[in-house]
Amino acid sequence: MPVFICPNCRERTVDVDGYEGFTTNVPQCRSCGFGFLFQLLEDYYPAPSTGFVVCDQETRVLAVGRGVFELTGFREGDLLGREVGAALHLSDTEPLEVAREWGVRRLGEQLELRTRAGLVKPVLVDLFPAYDEDGGLLVALSSRS
Ligand SMILES: [Zn+2]
Repeated sequence: MPVFICPNCRERTVDVDGYEGFTTNVPQCRSCGFGFLFQLLEDYYPAPSTGFVVCDQETRVLAVGRGVFELTGFREGDLLGREVGAALHLSDTEPLEVAREWGVRRLGEQLELRTRAGLVKPVLVDLFPAYDEDGGLLVALSSRS
């Protein structure tokens, strides 16, 4: 059963009530009004601190959800249109490439990013390829100690 997740407020919506067959015209979030939801093939439970970054097929940032600022110090305007790996100085961008090119989830990647203040911060990164024709990527960032 398809599950949709809001990249902004992390609200999960199971596809049971009228969204059936509505996968190419994705509805907006009923919880926060965010403009689109991301379809997941399998359920996923983000941590309370997880922040989502929505990327296009070239891994350029399209939207930034709640929690990303707390984690990285970057506001949406700082990241929009930039290549996510470069913008966040991710310690390894290969998982991004693998997820995008092979269309597979990558969960629990232990990477580091550089915050806006220049601090190196360990993060757990989960990556979800989009299954529509635009072929984007959802990047979930969570802090790890
Ligand atoms: Zn929402």
